[in-house]
Amino acid sequence: MQVIIGLTGGIGSGKSTVAKEFTALGIDIVDADKVARQVVEPGQPALAEIELYLGPDVLNAAGELNRAKLRQLIFQSETKKQWLNALLHPIIRDTLLAQLNMAKSEYVMLEAPLLLENKLTQYTDYTLVVDVDEKLQIERAMQRDDNSKSQIQAIMDAQISRSLRLQQADYVIDNTSVDRVALKQQIKSLHLKFLSLKKKTFNS
Ligand code: ADP
Repeated sequence: MQVIIGLTGGIGSGKSTVAKEFTALGIDIVDADKVARQVVEPGQPALAEIELYLGPDVLNAAGELNRAKLRQLIFQSETKKQWLNALLHPIIRDTLLAQLNMAKSEYVMLEAPLLLENKLTQYTDYTLVVDVDEKLQIERAMQRDDNSKSQIQAIMDAQISRSLRLQQADYVIDNTSVDRVALKQQIKSLHLKFLSLKKKTFNS
């Protein structure tokens, strides 16, 4: 199994932007948010279980998960929230591990906004943090998502603080500059370092 690098950073820090550059260098990226969506797609066993437990209202007319409805149901009930987490966490973990196992590149990245919060670091060898200050994070996330400042702030409040995140980083990309060429250079030089890393963790 290859070295696994966890790629994280707060909302709007530039994780996806950075991930694209590593993809361009031939590195396979496993996207934790994407996996979390895949496991509840129509036809997946987890979606059938959710429908059974929470009722058919949790699906829309097309048979897809109605996320707003789901959020509302689990917001109202701690029991339902715990049930959902107990159902989904092992499925998400197994799917992440399966995708990491299938990766063929020299090393592989696990892109996860909540890498540290959800302790996904138990599956990774090193942590790469994409960093910008909070002001820039809010500015870029607002521009991208057309969200209000308070919506972005609420997401940031549910994430680990910038200083705690940086404390846990093995590598940091400073994404303050708008100079994309400089960003590519930072990534290229990290890539060369990553190619010679040794595994730290036994990833089962
Ligand atoms: P994340 O995946 O961490 O939420 P994104 O990679 O989507 O962040 O970046 C957030 C927004 O900021 C996107 O619209 C992206 O195009 C933009 N962006 C990312 N890096 C830079 C940069 N260095 N300069 C200017 N804009 C950037």
